[in-house]
Amino acid sequence: MGAEGITPRIVDFSRWYQDVIQRAELADHSPVRGCMVIRPNGYAIWEKIQQALDGMIKETGHRNAYFPLFIPESFIRREAEHIEGFAPELAVVTHAGGEKLEEPLVVRPTSETIIYSMFAKWVQSYRDLPLLINQWANVVRWELRPRLFLRTTEFLWQEGHTAHTTEEEAEEETRKMLGVYKTFVEEYMALPVFAGRKTEAEKFAGAKHTYSIEAMMQDGKALQAGTSHNLGQNFARTFQLQYQTADNKMEFCWNTSWGVSTRLVGALIMGHSDDNGLVIPPRLAPHAAVIVPIWKSAEEQTAVREYALALERDLRGRGFSVICDLREQFTPGWKYAEWELLGVPVRIEAGPRDLSKNQVVLVRRDNRAKQFVPREGAGDLLGQTLQIMQQDLFDKALAFRDSKTQPVEDYRAFRSYMDEDLGFATAHWCGEAACEAKVKEETKATIRTVPDGDTLREEGRCVVCGAPSARRVIWAKAY
Ligand SMILES: [Zn+2]
Repeated sequence: MGAEGITPRIVDFSRWYQDVIQRAELADHSPVRGCMVIRPNGYAIWEKIQQALDGMIKETGHRNAYFPLFIPESFIRREAEHIEGFAPELAVVTHAGGEKLEEPLVVRPTSETIIYSMFAKWVQSYRDLPLLINQWANVVRWELRPRLFLRTTEFLWQEGHTAHTTEEEAEEETRKMLGVYKTFVEEYMALPVFAGRKTEAEKFAGAKHTYSIEAMMQDGKALQAGTSHNLGQNFARTFQLQYQTADNKMEFCWNTSWGVSTRLVGALIMGHSDDNGLVIPPRLAPHAAVIVPIWKSAEEQTAVREYALALERDLRGRGFSVICDLREQFTPGWKYAEWELLGVPVRIEAGPRDLSKNQVVLVRRDNRAKQFVPREGAGDLLGQTLQIMQQDLFDKALAFRDSKTQPVEDYRAFRSYMDEDLGFATAHWCGEAACEAKVKEETKATIRTVPDGDTLREEGRCVVCGAPSARRVIWAKAY
């Protein structure tokens, strides 16, 4: 039995997702269709994501900066392939200050153009490189089929932009940041991902190569959790981003860009949560634990309250983000359900009997495992429990993904797999865009990634046309 107001996943996964967001008060629809209001419970999760990832981005040598929301329309037009990818999604400001603007302004869909035009001013010689910049910002892409967190017209993200002297260095940076994302999503979000390259059809229009990490959601669909682009010299040529070499020649820079967005919050919900509400991996949980004191008489209330508050102080002193739920208008049972809905990893129960035995009860959110622990051991056990739960969530997601990742050998089997089973298919592909397009048209599945290195490399025949193929690739329906 799930929580009240939450449709079970097995009945309607999409309904379940929306119910969890509504009931846990993570986000709401705005008066402007396609836009999203991120409520405090949802924003707290985004802040945890930001905090951890910002640290990793800085550790790899990048610095944060901020570029403006408005981009001259001519900038977007200058990069032909880039505009081709974005044209229908652009929001354009034509009037401001009570007048029609001489040149319309585009609300940034991404910031390559404005950033590389500024880099062109800042970079003179090879001594100014590499230039490693990140920004946390909002972007706008007009969305016709919006879904909270997954696809919204305005969303929050970080976008890294770098300039290098050589192609090799840019490629190395592109791969390095993909690696940072993989580490983040696996170690913090507890979601295993496949990392690899996008096909020509699936890459960012302005890029030479796009790499992505792909996670599996509980319905077997893929979610692209982060992308990293080797931009080659496309933008450098368009915006005259040049540098003087050591022997006084002028060369164009090599660029990369990479980003993750608030859709990670959607991935976190669909990756781990259940019919009782949110399940948040401990490393990203705004609160690690909630203490729920239990009492009946006024006398018990005074004693238990004191016991619980002392425990809260003690755990906070040890660095755990813990809250004590002393509200009198709700029963303990009601509070359990509420905190389960909100996904707090550990509930600590303390009642008169626990007080007399000088113990507390720890209950895990994900599997409801219960542990009785002496009061003075509570901090140590909480720390261990959070670590174990973090690992268990990853292991569970990995086992699920493995069970839903199947080799598929022929096209009829492929179609029924995508219709009925829904999961990742590892199948041979000859490399032809026509085969890829046929699959997308007929099954809605796409090549999520061409895995790195020797993963899935073996001789075979294309699942669509039967031509020789050197490797399998990962196909799935995706969010
Ligand atoms: Zn083929």
